[in-house]
Amino acid sequence: MRVTMIGSGYVGLVSGACFADFGHEVICVDVNQQKVDDLKQGRIPIYEPGLDALVASNAAAGRISFTTDLASAVAEADAVFIAVGTPSRRGDGHADLSYVRAAAKEIAQAITRYTVVVTKSTVPVGTGDVVERIIRETRPDAEFSVVSNPEFLREGAAIEDFKRPDRVVIGANEERAKAVMAELYRPLSLNAAPILFTDRRTAELTKYAANAFLATKITFINEIADLCEEVGADVQLVARGIGMDKRIGSKFLNAGPGYGGSCFPKDTLALIRSAQDYGVSLRVVESVVAVNDARKTAMARKVVRACGGSVQGRTVAVLGLTFKPNTDDMRDAPAINIIDALQRAGAKIRAHDPVGMDQAKAVLHNVTYTDSAYDCATGADVLVLVTEWDAYRALDLKRLRQVMKGAVIVDLRNVYREEEVARAGFDYIRVGAMPKL
Ligand code: NAD
Repeated sequence: MRVTMIGSGYVGLVSGACFADFGHEVICVDVNQQKVDDLKQGRIPIYEPGLDALVASNAAAGRISFTTDLASAVAEADAVFIAVGTPSRRGDGHADLSYVRAAAKEIAQAITRYTVVVTKSTVPVGTGDVVERIIRETRPDAEFSVVSNPEFLREGAAIEDFKRPDRVVIGANEERAKAVMAELYRPLSLNAAPILFTDRRTAELTKYAANAFLATKITFINEIADLCEEVGADVQLVARGIGMDKRIGSKFLNAGPGYGGSCFPKDTLALIRSAQDYGVSLRVVESVVAVNDARKTAMARKVVRACGGSVQGRTVAVLGLTFKPNTDDMRDAPAINIIDALQRAGAKIRAHDPVGMDQAKAVLHNVTYTDSAYDCATGADVLVLVTEWDAYRALDLKRLRQVMKGAVIVDLRNVYREEEVARAGFDYIRVGAMPKL
């Protein structure tokens, strides 16, 4: 089938490359000329494990190409996916649909035959109706269907998630469109692909409900971690103890510095706002957002306490800047708020991240960026582990102790064992447990 992706970011590029790998003919479109030029030259503008090889092999086989010319890419397509950004609208937290609207208008002008227009971007309930109206008004003669097919992939494991998803949700109101979507996703599985067909509004809401639920799970265990610290319990064992219950499940129960990233913060907020538009208040999700917001500055206070009550003039070494490992994405990363709060408290920041430093430089200023974890730690009073990259999971603690000025490690991801850190001569503060020493 012929597939066109509008938007070649984390979602559009991964989805496009995976569809191409299944044998479909894919054209990825983007308004960003630099991005398209890079992709044509075989340079991948984002960091996503395995994506460079996947794009290269499919480009060599002639199954994926890149362009800024939306009209020609849409003209012959069976399905056109909208995978543009839907960031928070400044000021009110509603999803900003201006990119989706612009894409819909351009698609409408370019349609030449029956086309399935698929919203892959995360969009509020009713956006499918808006897209349909824009196309209908722009091109009353066009033959098309509008489908919702939200994306559930995770950055860092995006290819695996796309190719072996827990489920694919397709919200389609017409049989003809359903048939096109079923054919597109058929290669996912030799037997029955795990596709859930719904109406369009249900699919749109399913995406937000999933993200809000996951954000709630993280926030719940983070609050339990706070309580563990006060009562002398260990949140890692509490998480195991509850996670072994199949009704709860063990995933998303790692206490940490609060959720961040390009999806959960904006999607929880957008869900709350669109519910309000319908007169419904989602009080659980509202609390989750408030608790998570407060958590980031609470993590900075934890570092300040670990330094004896002040970081004025102290050097803090921060390991890990991206919102999670295996991505270069800095959007709403907890490290941003934590570093900002520490700087306001008078700390000097040294930082390291395996791949995120270029992105970080655009949002974090007055930071000394370093070449390695050990370089980062050199001369520091305290070391703070913010993102649990593999490269930070087995650090040479004795070597760290030698290069650091101070002897405190604050581990916001619970990577280490207190005994081993203590053996290297450190005070060790983690999340969800009282320090024993
Ligand atoms: P992104 O910012 O990485 O990519 C969006 C791309 O769209 C950009 O390259 C931009 O230049 C391009 N674009 C904007 N307007 C365009 C237009 N009119 N024509 C062509 N290109 C245009 O965003 P992303 O992270 O890929 O997210 C896209 C959508 O997918 C969002 O709604 C997001 O919520 C959702 N989503 C993201 C993830 C994720 O992990 N990143 C996961 C699931 C869903």
